[in-house]
Amino acid sequence: MPHDLPKAYDPTAIEDKWAEYWVSENLFAQPTPTAADEAGGESFTILLPPPNVTGRLHMGHMLNQTEMDILTRWQRMSGRRALWLPGTDHAGIATQMMVERQLVEEGKSRQQLGREAFVERVWEWKRHYGGAILDQMKRLGASVDWQREYFTMDENLSVAVREAFVRLHEQGLIYRGAYIVNWCPRCQTAISDLEVVHVEQKGHLWEIRYPVIGDDGKDSEEFLTIATTRPETMLGDVAVAIHPEDERYLHLHGKKLRLPLVGREIPIILDEWVSREFGTGAVKVTPAHDPNDFALGQRHHLPSINIMDDEAKINAEGGQYAGLDRYVARKRIVADLEAQGLLGAIKDHTNNVGHCDRCKTVVEPRLSTQWFIKIQPLAEKAIAAVKPDASGKKAINFTPEQYEKTYLNWMENIHDWCISRQLWWGHRIPAWHCSACHQITVARVDPTACAHCGAVEITQETDVLDTWFSSGLLPVSVFGWPNFRAPQMLRAPSIPRSAAEWVGDHESAESMGAPGPSHLGTWESKANRADFDAFYPTSLLVTGFDILFFWVARMIMMGIWFAQEVPLPDGSKRTLADSVPFREVYIHALVRDANREKMSKTKGNVIDPIEIVKQYGTDAVRFTLASMASPGTDIAFNVARTEGYRAFANKIWNAARFLFMNIDRAAEIGITIDPSSLPLLPFVGADAPLEDHWIIAEFHSTATKVNRSLENYRYDDAANFIYQFFWGSFCDWYLEIVKLRLDFSESADKQNIKEALTTLLSVFEASLRLLSPFMPFLTEEIWHAVYDDKPPAKSIALMSYPPVQSSDAGKQIEMEHVQSIITEIRALRKEIGVEEKAVVPIELRINAHLKHVITENASIIERLAKVSEIHYVEAITPALAKRSTSGFDVAIIYARTIDVAAERERLTKDIAKYEKGVAAAERQLGNEAFIAKAPAHIVEGLKKQEAETRLLLEKARAALDALPPEA
Ligand SMILES: [Zn+2]
Ligand SMILES: [Zn+2]
Repeated sequence: MPHDLPKAYDPTAIEDKWAEYWVSENLFAQPTPTAADEAGGESFTILLPPPNVTGRLHMGHMLNQTEMDILTRWQRMSGRRALWLPGTDHAGIATQMMVERQLVEEGKSRQQLGREAFVERVWEWKRHYGGAILDQMKRLGASVDWQREYFTMDENLSVAVREAFVRLHEQGLIYRGAYIVNWCPRCQTAISDLEVVHVEQKGHLWEIRYPVIGDDGKDSEEFLTIATTRPETMLGDVAVAIHPEDERYLHLHGKKLRLPLVGREIPIILDEWVSREFGTGAVKVTPAHDPNDFALGQRHHLPSINIMDDEAKINAEGGQYAGLDRYVARKRIVADLEAQGLLGAIKDHTNNVGHCDRCKTVVEPRLSTQWFIKIQPLAEKAIAAVKPDASGKKAINFTPEQYEKTYLNWMENIHDWCISRQLWWGHRIPAWHCSACHQITVARVDPTACAHCGAVEITQETDVLDTWFSSGLLPVSVFGWPNFRAPQMLRAPSIPRSAAEWVGDHESAESMGAPGPSHLGTWESKANRADFDAFYPTSLLVTGFDILFFWVARMIMMGIWFAQEVPLPDGSKRTLADSVPFREVYIHALVRDANREKMSKTKGNVIDPIEIVKQYGTDAVRFTLASMASPGTDIAFNVARTEGYRAFANKIWNAARFLFMNIDRAAEIGITIDPSSLPLLPFVGADAPLEDHWIIAEFHSTATKVNRSLENYRYDDAANFIYQFFWGSFCDWYLEIVKLRLDFSESADKQNIKEALTTLLSVFEASLRLLSPFMPFLTEEIWHAVYDDKPPAKSIALMSYPPVQSSDAGKQIEMEHVQSIITEIRALRKEIGVEEKAVVPIELRINAHLKHVITENASIIERLAKVSEIHYVEAITPALAKRSTSGFDVAIIYARTIDVAAERERLTKDIAKYEKGVAAAERQLGNEAFIAKAPAHIVEGLKKQEAETRLLLEKARAALDALPPEA
């Protein structure tokens, strides 16, 4: 049977099928444009913020991906060369941690395994379990180009990382230096300021008395008392600082102190940075373990003594405390100080303690040698790109605009970027240390000898690069920078798993995702910039606030820095506006629970998108998110809404079935409707009935509003306009009106049926295209059915989007009058109790210029409002209940036939009931003891209730009196 749609809308039955089809048919692949394409096409390029290879889909991803997919599908259907590029991030710390945990379970450690074997083990993990989140994306129908899927440690991207590092080094922008870093003793690596979470904790402030050394070189009787929250760090003290004008300590200027427990002589130094109010006004200086002390040490040329090892255990510098964990050492030191009478007061103190964002271990500020990027020339350009140029234009625009300020504020206060991490998993720094001359060789190709002295005793740096170094390069590296290569497929896409598997644990080898780096396609360094020329700068970045600094800022810095060297296709120099990695940044909001609470595991209010999708279907979840998404507004995710949008999908499904049923019935009497002749934009001839003109005008004005809304990221408005059009105008009004013309009896007017069905089908088909970016699965299924599985394209997503179009406002207004009369009659019928099925005559007083609209469309009013006859009058008969608008008055001529006896009985019963109620209320209100005790609102309520019952009583008595005598 043609147009075969199952009776019930069941998303699970259709979504898997289409998700698989879109991937296997490579529908959203965006090939490198050829020279011929290049001339006309406009690109819409968007990068997926690469999820961690260890990641799982959460509601934030679902929102982000829904927004990106709606825009990409809309742009593609609107004729742009749309490319949405997916990939995953190797996520240094997160992935290494995951595999380390596995090893611990096996009773092993990464150190036992050794670097090479460990890294191989991580690759192994990645091949088996990595990228599960991309499979989830496939199942959710994201219209990305799977052929271009990348992994940040792919060979081509690694080449870009290496080139960027070497180039920055050659430009004098990379240096190695001692610096206080946030050290995670668990992860055993430096982590960035952004990866430290500060938690307020109750602790103590210990006062310690440092003996002052007298002029004779011996400890005097005097002490200088310092206060510290981390007593164990005293082992690394090299001075005590006081404010030069602190009157308490003027006599100590130039003196030295004896460091307790250690015995070292340390100077008292003067520095205006010291706060006289905090603690005792004397500050111990430990340059190797505190950023402020480090700065003090630099100013006063003090040595730095690092007293901890990588695990935050005291090292040999700590003498008798060597080998102790930092907190064990703290206890011992406090006890020893007390025993020696050097411990002063211990005060309660609340301070902000930094924790590792990954493993929650308390971070230890610690001096270490790290690699840095001199940020200044890069940051300058990244600031300029966001500020208006001479003509007032910005190279990069933020939506919502407030984030521009946040970005600039951070960028203007940026420090040099520490890019080294003490991990094994990641891009190993391409620098070699020479054991002969101690110089460093940085090279594009692994060197065999020192570049400075020629010695062969060189060893590669053990650190890897910060993960954000490689992800910051993505906008240039994914398009082939620096070795522009021939356009070609990197890999064949993998098909999403079936519904049963896609949420599974990926335990089996069959569920392997994309192949690892050794399976890469051919790599050619042949100069070919077609991809870069066509897709860079990308159009838009949609991302979350949380990675504004981590990622967005770094892409802007690195994108500009490296792209500016690539000339434009015509050979001219790239301006700042053409060097930026993206032209627009859209920061999406948070998804909260239905009560607007932030979702958190501890609160137990986390909504798993996969679970909701299983229950209601992807389309309904996407539509829910879209219907609430607008710039800067958080989303309160409410399942009740999703249920409502599933009903919306169901409504469209039923409309399709109704339509197909009628087309099939028409075919039986020889009327054929040819879907292949459907116009891209629905239209009708001048003599078509009002409803056809009206629905087409409604369609165009909806399409116009949807396009305008999407241009401004108003997903909510766009979704709501479509919803109102499809459910209200199309289903509730238009279908009901068109039914009048679908008369398949002997006397059927075949031409009329054909015209009605043709318009109906063309509006419906175009409406599916309008809805498609929001509900891709439902629309794909129905659209293929419209064409009896012989569609004009492989997918509705490849058809054209209804554009901004002027509409016939006159016809819309005319139809609104007809609708308004119907609505008023329906309300009147309810008001005066006209039985549901009764067909009644009406009186209508209408302004002269509208009368012809009503007379021409009387059949619509008659059918939809169950009207038998319209009496046009100069004035409504006074006795009739009427409704009025500025254009008309309407009344129903209706006399209810009633059973007098039954009515008398009913009214008598009602009167008795009301009398009882009034009496009870009077009794209660007359009870003074009750009135004295009862709360005011209860008494008020009672009084109100009494008054209402009295009114009902009077009405019922009057009705009883008005009853005619029984026959
Ligand atoms: Zn950690
Ligand atoms: Zn050397």
